[in-house]
Amino acid sequence: MVGIVLISHSIKLAEGVQELAQQMVQAPVQIAIAAGVDDPENPFGTDVMQIHAAIESVYSNAGVVALMDLGSAVMGAEMALEFFTEEQRRHIRLCAAPLVEGAIAAVVQAAAGAELEQVVAEARGALAAKAEQLGELGETGTQGGGEALLGEGQGLDKQEIRLIVQNPLGIHARPAAQFVTTAGRFQSEITVRNVTRQSPPVSAKSINQVVTLGVLQGHEIEIVAQGIEAEAALAALRQLVAGQFGEAERGKAEGRRQRVEGGKVEGGKVEGKRQKAEGGKVEGIRQRAEGRGQKADGLAQATFAEEKGSAGPLHASAGARLQGIPASPGVAVGSVILYHSSMPDVIDEPVDNPQMAWEQLQGAVQVAQRQIQDIIRTVEAASAEGNNASIFQAHLLYLEDPALMDRVREMIFEQYRSAAIAWKAVIEDMVKTYQALEDSYLQARATDVQDVGQRVLKLLLRGDGQPSSIVKNLKPGILVAPDLTPSDAAQLHPDQVLGVCTVAGSATAHSALIANMLGIPMVVGVGEDLLALSEGVPLALDGSTGQIWLHPSDSQKQTLIAKQSPAPPPPRSPAPLLCETLTLDGRSVPVIANILGLASAQLAIEQGAAGVGLLRTEFLYLDRLAAPSEEEQLEAYQEIATVLGDRPLTIRTVDIGGDKPIPYMNLASEANPFLGWRGIRQSLDCPNMLKTQLRAILRASHGHAVQVMFPMVSSRQEVRAATAILREAQEELSQAEIAFDPGIKVGIMIEIPAAVMMADQLALEVDFFSLGTNDLGQYAMAADRSNPQVAPLADGLAPAVLRMIQRTVTAAHEAGIKVSVCGQLASDPVATPILLGLGIDELSVNPPAIAAVKSVISQWRMAEAEAITREAQQLDSAIAVRECVGRRSS
Ligand code: PEP
Ligand code: MG
Repeated sequence: MVGIVLISHSIKLAEGVQELAQQMVQAPVQIAIAAGVDDPENPFGTDVMQIHAAIESVYSNAGVVALMDLGSAVMGAEMALEFFTEEQRRHIRLCAAPLVEGAIAAVVQAAAGAELEQVVAEARGALAAKAEQLGELGETGTQGGGEALLGEGQGLDKQEIRLIVQNPLGIHARPAAQFVTTAGRFQSEITVRNVTRQSPPVSAKSINQVVTLGVLQGHEIEIVAQGIEAEAALAALRQLVAGQFGEAERGKAEGRRQRVEGGKVEGGKVEGKRQKAEGGKVEGIRQRAEGRGQKADGLAQATFAEEKGSAGPLHASAGARLQGIPASPGVAVGSVILYHSSMPDVIDEPVDNPQMAWEQLQGAVQVAQRQIQDIIRTVEAASAEGNNASIFQAHLLYLEDPALMDRVREMIFEQYRSAAIAWKAVIEDMVKTYQALEDSYLQARATDVQDVGQRVLKLLLRGDGQPSSIVKNLKPGILVAPDLTPSDAAQLHPDQVLGVCTVAGSATAHSALIANMLGIPMVVGVGEDLLALSEGVPLALDGSTGQIWLHPSDSQKQTLIAKQSPAPPPPRSPAPLLCETLTLDGRSVPVIANILGLASAQLAIEQGAAGVGLLRTEFLYLDRLAAPSEEEQLEAYQEIATVLGDRPLTIRTVDIGGDKPIPYMNLASEANPFLGWRGIRQSLDCPNMLKTQLRAILRASHGHAVQVMFPMVSSRQEVRAATAILREAQEELSQAEIAFDPGIKVGIMIEIPAAVMMADQLALEVDFFSLGTNDLGQYAMAADRSNPQVAPLADGLAPAVLRMIQRTVTAAHEAGIKVSVCGQLASDPVATPILLGLGIDELSVNPPAIAAVKSVISQWRMAEAEAITREAQQLDSAIAVRECVGRRSS
């Protein structure tokens, strides 16, 4: 029996149609659904892989008829077909019939045992019945079924309207996005042309074609629609244009004019946001950050007060400011380096298998779409009112643009060009088209196209195993980016990137932790105003307060530099091997480091780390199209181990999931990713991936002091399952006579309250514990670490967390194993005496914090630290603990 597939943007719609159609027949018909996307906040959309799976699930030689609603459902269905063999494709029909009528007709025919072509014909003719009933047959001309959606309309009179565009900036990116989205809602062929410029008509459903019409205020446009819904489509588009795309009443166009342009900032939005940030949420975060021992000094506060008092519009020369969220302490003064500065070089080699190249491109585009959706989510969560993520919404539309994809496809299939070359050529062409436009605002959209293009290209190149660097051969400066993924952040070099500020992001996201580890000051969540900055604009930022100065004055720079200078200069010469850090009464407490790669390992050694307590290996797995191979991992681990010499290197197996999803694993989106499939849970479900990593770690242990650690452990079974895979890897290596350290130490992270409660049992299974206070804090206090609004609640100095640490240390010491702390708490000098008092054996800290933490250790006696710790555990809040340490330290 012919199978039916219903493809819709809405799962509810598809389920409803399925139920309705099934009710029409006695016999069960195979009906599969591909509808909606796995995003609870925005569930409408279609997914190529889901469509592919749905077709596959009902596929047989009898054939499959797929019915779609509109827009990307049609395109997605076409793409999904590419995944079938030519032979299979002969049995699959994408039917242009309207979804509801077509589905009912098709299901009835299929249940009657009709053959594929009959089912298709019946579905196509479904609309005719309705038209006849309504007396519209002559008009619609659909008797006998249309050939395709657009074909259905070909018999119709065209309908057209002419409109004058009134909004000040014309149809630039945002209105174009709205125009295209509106047009895309209708099953009509719709074109638009710029009458004033006498341009030819273009598809109203193509963002690029609409924008490149160069429609300015006062231009006349002509919109032509044909096919079903033509009238409704024109009415909706008329309303959109007449309503000035919603810009008139929101005053958005005005605000945009007032952005930074040519190095000038004029009042308006920036100032509004600044005041808001000062008075509201961001200021709250700033105060909390200060409460955490990152107090802005008097000078900086004086500047703050002085600027607050300034009246009238801000000018860049007077040190206009933006306010973001402080993410990594320190100050930076330098010129803007834009993240999307150039497209990477690509070697032009013809491909033998265009189909594979096309699939590779589609994979990269899907990954890029997910990345952009993540940015949109974080921008929307962090942005102040009126500052949304519309530019990134437009980025998504560029990726959905059928005209763009068609051109790339043509180059791949007709010219046998690689995915990267074809993509790059089409994007560069499009960038040039934008740059050639007269209007300066539209010209600036070239950057958006380049940004999106580069995102996909980077993914394609990494998929080919080529390294990619986000900053190449540039003068040192401050990196300005939409957002940084952890792997982007991992590529930053502190000598080149003096500071980072991003549109999106949260202070506890992993990219911020990485910036901390590298000692790079960072401000996140600044909002889209940041995107108006151009390359080379002088900037200063304070990563402790979240302030950013545009064109800082000399006095502002001096203030910032003075703020930084009281800190002792970090030792640049290599520290002695396993240098000891002793308390005043002689207890040795090694300070080791948290790293993510070679650069931070080198920094850690320069700062005098006695080893590495946490190598976060996730950076090797993120933002790629496939997991790293054993050899690739081995090379990375060996490089780091070699830099460390005899010092211990603790390699943590991947902790993906949470805020570190990896696209090629197609992780389902989870309502609570931090409570979901991450860390050891994911690893145990993907044993081959875990074993590959363990083999690489074991091989790196040969000749180096490498130890292995498992994250997110909640039970003894998990530890046993993971160590069983470790033993398998050891056996395989022994059999293959590949060297490794048979006595490799095995540890676990204690970062889930369950692990704290079961620490006595867990201690019997492993050689060491490492406390992950970032996660322990969030789980103990039920405060999402990536949500800036509640993240401060998850302060590791909360007495509840301190009691958990105490319990863990007692269990570990009773079992004779060591405990370190590798969460952010260990890098906070205020927490150092408390951690000493709790009996922690080692502190694993971010390299820039090593000097400060060592210095605090050397100023305390154990008896004093134990006394303050007893007192702290009786207090009722982290703030009270911080105050208590402050009093005792002064
Ligand atoms: C922690 O949770 O404290 C930790 C060190 O792990 P991560 O921050 O990588 O989750
Ligand atoms: Mg953790």
